[in-house]
Amino acid sequence: MMGKQYDLVIIGAGPGGYVAAKKAAKLGMSVVIIDKGEVGGTCINRGCIPTKALIHTATLYRDMVECGKFGLFAEKVGFDLRKIYEYKDLSIVKMQDELKREFSELGITSVRGTATVQSDKRVRVALPDGGTGYSDCDRGKGAYGGYSGNGSPGSHDQRGIADGKEKQVSKPFDSWRRRNRN
Ligand SMILES: Cc1cc2nc3c(=O)[nH]c(=O)nc-3n(C[C@H](O)[C@H](O)[C@H](O)COP(=O)(O)OP(=O)(O)OC[C@H]3O[C@@H](n4cnc5c(N)ncnc54)[C@H](O)[C@@H]3O)c2cc1C
Repeated sequence: MMGKQYDLVIIGAGPGGYVAAKKAAKLGMSVVIIDKGEVGGTCINRGCIPTKALIHTATLYRDMVECGKFGLFAEKVGFDLRKIYEYKDLSIVKMQDELKREFSELGITSVRGTATVQSDKRVRVALPDGGTGYSDCDRGKGAYGGYSGNGSPGSHDQRGIADGKEKQVSKPFDSWRRRNRN
């Protein structure tokens, strides 16, 4: 897996990385995609997918509450926050699994680790077990995503700009939880 020569090394398995990986593999290139986190990047793990799962749930709840105007009746409309979160988490896992299946079918090598570009033909990877790997390539693509400008992903910069990790979808529920603790 590591230490092998690839046509293309991609750093970052978010939409920017995985779309490129699939396209390149379909064109016949040997591809390795490296991510320090779960495959899917911000979109699948913290962004588009979990927010849409929660919005879908909230929309259903509103429709159930307001269904009388359509001539429908729903008694005891309520919600279970734990189950709502389970549904959100399941949506993430389903998308990750689908992506892993596609990588496998297309022969794309997926590696978990933090990548550093060493030269235009070599990427160094710090592996989760503390080891180090190298991937040699003809071409490389960086798809690291974006984060706020203070160099510290997950924190506000001085202008109060937050990155994708800061806007985790659990945040809107924190104030609700505090209000309804008892
Ligand atoms: C709450 C929220 C909701 C959103 N909803 C939508 C939506 O509905 N529709 C939409 O189009 N967009 C939406 N977005 C935006 C969307 O998530 C991003 O545009 C998209 O994820 C960007 O893709 P990317 O591949 O460029 O970056 P990312 O998805 O951020 O992926 C970058 C990846 O690179 C990895 N990485 C970074 N550095 C390294 C390194 N040195 N070594 C290894 N890996 C590394 C990271 O771990 C990450 O997985 C939303 C974003 C948020 C925060």
